[in-house]
Amino acid sequence: MLYVPSTRNARIAYKKLEKIALKVGYGKVDYKILSRMLNREFKSMKVRFRFKRVDGLDDYISATGYYIPPHFGDDHRYEVQVFYGGKTQKLRRKFYTEIYFILVHEFRHGYQYRARKFRHRRPPDKSFLHASKPFQEEIRYLMDYDEIDAYAMEIAESRRMGCELVYRQANYQVYKDTIPKMTKPWKKLMKKIYKYSGGIKSCYL
Ligand SMILES: [Zn+2]
Repeated sequence: MLYVPSTRNARIAYKKLEKIALKVGYGKVDYKILSRMLNREFKSMKVRFRFKRVDGLDDYISATGYYIPPHFGDDHRYEVQVFYGGKTQKLRRKFYTEIYFILVHEFRHGYQYRARKFRHRRPPDKSFLHASKPFQEEIRYLMDYDEIDAYAMEIAESRRMGCELVYRQANYQVYKDTIPKMTKPWKKLMKKIYKYSGGIKSCYL
């Protein structure tokens, strides 16, 4: 089944990443060149990429994303930080998929802020306070309405991409393990995933 991203931003980002993946490829790549290409290609979408070398991350590349609200005075709206280890590190196909889902998530935060005319986020459901102290912070983050919405978008998009994709399964698992079943936030997440994926059922649930 051919995968078509469901939003305009996601479609543009998907195409750009495919183009870069074709040019740069996998295996041993020069991170400086990759960083320059990503930044050049995504400038029009106000996305900035920062590559940081971290000693000890020998065979591992990880990335994380941020949405930057306009009142920060930054020209960019999104930042993706990529952490990599030594020079021998190999780039895998998964890297581009991971960057893609980070962007889907952060674009959703952009949409949320625009839809609210950049007013503050809604406070999270207070039921996380029942959890034991060490987990409260993580649960507070996951129960935040904006996060539930953005993760639902990501998970829905990965379902639309196909069952073989397991990368975002991890996110779903985090929610499954953290949020008490049948609470308001859990139901909200389920409802949103269903809505955003157009009712596509995943084979890993
Ligand atoms: Zn988020």
